[in-house]
Amino acid sequence: MLPSVNRRKFLKTSAIVASSLQPNLMRAKNSKITVAQSPSRQKSRLKTGSSGGIFIHPWDITDEGIDNCYDFLGDHCGLNEIRAAAIYHAGTFLLPHNPKHMVRWDEGSAFFIPQHPRWRETRIRPVVGTCVDTPGYMHRIVDKARKRNWGMIFFTVFHFNHSMARAYPETCMVDVMGERHGSYLCPANPDVRSHDLAVVEELMDTYGGDGIRYEHLGYGGLNWWSFTLNKIEVPPSPRDKFLLDLCFCASCCHRALVQNIDVYSFRRNVKDHLYHSLPKLPSEWDKGKVDEEWCRNAFEGKLWEYMEMRFNTVTSLFWSVQEIVNRFGGGLMPFRVPYELKKDRYGQSFMNKIDYSKFYPYLKRVGVDPHGKTKDAQQRSLVKQVSQVPEWSEPETMHIQHQYNSKEPLLEKIKMSRNAGIRHHFFHYYGQSRREQLQWIGEGREAWA
Ligand SMILES: [Zn+2]
Repeated sequence: MLPSVNRRKFLKTSAIVASSLQPNLMRAKNSKITVAQSPSRQKSRLKTGSSGGIFIHPWDITDEGIDNCYDFLGDHCGLNEIRAAAIYHAGTFLLPHNPKHMVRWDEGSAFFIPQHPRWRETRIRPVVGTCVDTPGYMHRIVDKARKRNWGMIFFTVFHFNHSMARAYPETCMVDVMGERHGSYLCPANPDVRSHDLAVVEELMDTYGGDGIRYEHLGYGGLNWWSFTLNKIEVPPSPRDKFLLDLCFCASCCHRALVQNIDVYSFRRNVKDHLYHSLPKLPSEWDKGKVDEEWCRNAFEGKLWEYMEMRFNTVTSLFWSVQEIVNRFGGGLMPFRVPYELKKDRYGQSFMNKIDYSKFYPYLKRVGVDPHGKTKDAQQRSLVKQVSQVPEWSEPETMHIQHQYNSKEPLLEKIKMSRNAGIRHHFFHYYGQSRREQLQWIGEGREAWA
């Protein structure tokens, strides 16, 4: 934080200065040298063969001092890949080894100042976090990692963002009753879509990211309604919840109308149903499964038509993101693994279906996880999953070091994964782990050496 400058004024000025830069002015006269605004720019070089990474919030790095933090990650943990949050959702964070903020409250922040020329095409801008104290904040984080030849993947939470919802309420989802969502932006909204693409372009181009690990890039719902504690004492039945989660914002309605869907009568039907069913104990129909068969037949087929509109909305957004990432040779990494879904057009989560088959040829890393009760079963499941990874991709696995009270089970899991042929390992949140738990990571470093 700059002591003598009003923070709000400072950030506003930086954003204006950054956004007014012409693309050709962002480079010095010698085209090989870039000016201070974008020293991080370089082509993606996602590590292949092996890597050891960790999820980390930028405040974890800068509160400790970038060099101190990186020395620890390199020397004690043996890691060589940073998975830095670029935009993260609201939360209350307990940070047991943070020297400045042992508890941090955050309402949803971006950790970079928008400066890419692409932001000129957007109406809405990310809400910048309180830890971002200079225009070069994220550049320093990236550049110091690059000096160590570390990888840089940005994990980015797109639509679940309370501060964006507050700044731009008109871009949020709207439920069937007309209630505007308090924390979830709608993927059909053109401003949200251009914001998403500018974020990706910024991270890949300005910061030379190796990849984007995305979360909440589709539609949200009731789970994400509240900032604090949900007061949902009578949870709706699965089908009613599904219907309550549908978005009927102007952008969704417009997309439906373009596809000749009679969205207004469908909306009336859903609303009538919920007014009738929610006050009462759920009927058998309400308690039934939310699956494709139900979805195709409910409301005389109108629900399915509406869902098709949503599938297309989300798939086309994902595809635009994939195209940008491809242009920079980077990797697009989903929250959950789509490899097993290559033939399944709609994937696992029914609410946010996308056409995964479209993305399958571009997978660079595929996440695998042990399943089964016994060690043998887990080992077998890993071997099987690794064998299903397409040849143009590599398996990776996550270890949650802060779940363990001693190092043995963590090291055992690392070893099991390595024995199954996994050479990309990454670990859960740095700042939310205890010191010993982080040190144990280093004892497993041979797995990705
Ligand atoms: Zn919508």
